[in-house]
Amino acid sequence: MHLKALTLRGFKSFASATTLRFEPGITCVVGPNGSGKSNVVDALSWVMGEQGAKSLRGGKMEDVIFAGTTGRPPLGRAEVSLTIDNSDGALPIDYAEVTLTRIMFRGGSSEYQINGDTCRLLDFQDLLSDSGIGREMHVIVGQGQLDSVLHADPMGRRAFIEEAAGVLKHRKRKEKALRKLDAMQANLARVQDLADELRRQLKPLGGRPPSPAAPSSSRPTCATPGSASSPTTSSASGRH
Ligand code: ATP
Repeated sequence: MHLKALTLRGFKSFASATTLRFEPGITCVVGPNGSGKSNVVDALSWVMGEQGAKSLRGGKMEDVIFAGTTGRPPLGRAEVSLTIDNSDGALPIDYAEVTLTRIMFRGGSSEYQINGDTCRLLDFQDLLSDSGIGREMHVIVGQGQLDSVLHADPMGRRAFIEEAAGVLKHRKRKEKALRKLDAMQANLARVQDLADELRRQLKPLGGRPPSPAAPSSSRPTCATPGSASSPTTSSASGRH
């Protein structure tokens, strides 16, 4: 999948609209410490639907909006647009080029657009998930992470490989399914206990409970004292 362009407007240190155009192949962003290189990566995650402020190196989501400098007042909204080349049809949408736009206002409200049309976050996620990118689908290797990959112990390495191979998602699903099965098993055991207890209580009554399939005439109607036609009455009186 080729990401063609990224436009940041009021996002973190990018107060003015800034467009980065990516050519096919590897793109390097070079700059001095603190110049905003990681903010570009944050913008990529954010526009693809990231919901965790921590993953974007902030305390709260509003921290992505340009907070102002000595020479420039803060802005009221952040906007990032990502243009994806879809000439190979990797995204299930009938456009050769797809532009995803995410906007956030200081009040907390958000807006999502696909090629300029307003949509929901879910539409973003649906569109991206088929192509293996989007929230929890792509992998961004952050600063210092390469070091931890190289120095990881065997278990740590296994976790990295599982994450990259997408096994983690299925393992989580399996754990959830097993938890549900356990809960179901406990419910079944409880039902079994209740059935046993009811059977035990019915035993002194000396009869089986009327079968629901039995014709209504054979069911006990009114417990007339001494009436032998009612199985319930006769067996009960037999007990006394
Ligand atoms: P390093 O190489 O040290 O990791 P970097 O080039 O990756 O640095 P970033 O971490 O992307 O730099 O950018 C940090 C800069 O972004 C800081 O100067 C910080 O003040 C600025 N910044 C972050 N959030 C905002 C914001 N909401 N408003 C204005 N500036 C911001």
